[in-house]
Amino acid sequence: MNEQRTAPPRPPFWREYWFEIIWLLLALLGVFLLVERMNLRAILRRVVTEAVRWLARAALHIGQGIITRIMHTTISDAIGIILLLIAMGVLLWRIRWRIMRSSRWTRTVCPLCGSGLHRIHRRRLDRVISLLIPVGRFLCKNPECRWTGLRVTTSRARRRSSRSDA
Ligand SMILES: [Zn+2]
Repeated sequence: MNEQRTAPPRPPFWREYWFEIIWLLLALLGVFLLVERMNLRAILRRVVTEAVRWLARAALHIGQGIITRIMHTTISDAIGIILLLIAMGVLLWRIRWRIMRSSRWTRTVCPLCGSGLHRIHRRRLDRVISLLIPVGRFLCKNPECRWTGLRVTTSRARRRSSRSDA
């Protein structure tokens, strides 16, 4: 009797409705997940959209900036610098070539009195100039003139000057 009396009250609700309870819980879980997922999706969509839009704008901005700079500044600057360097180099080489060839800079005759010249010790600046053009310092043999100046001293230049002198 006791067992029969105590036994019936336990099962009724759970045993009667466990099916409904479980499915109700599952339904609630489904609703919860649906709502949650909708919110998450909305938030995610907004975040992703914003991020993509921001990235696209940033990429576009940076790309445009780089392209604009390359098209308008960097290439023209680079070409300008290269052209300037090449032109300066060619001009310097040409000036050097002209000086080395000119009799004015290779003749070992005094430009003032026409006397012969003899070589003296170079000054410090002459040595610096010699890094670009081989020069020597010369002094007029005429004691009343005493002209001093630089002359190109390559063997070729001297040979040419001696040939033109002769
Ligand atoms: Zn002289």
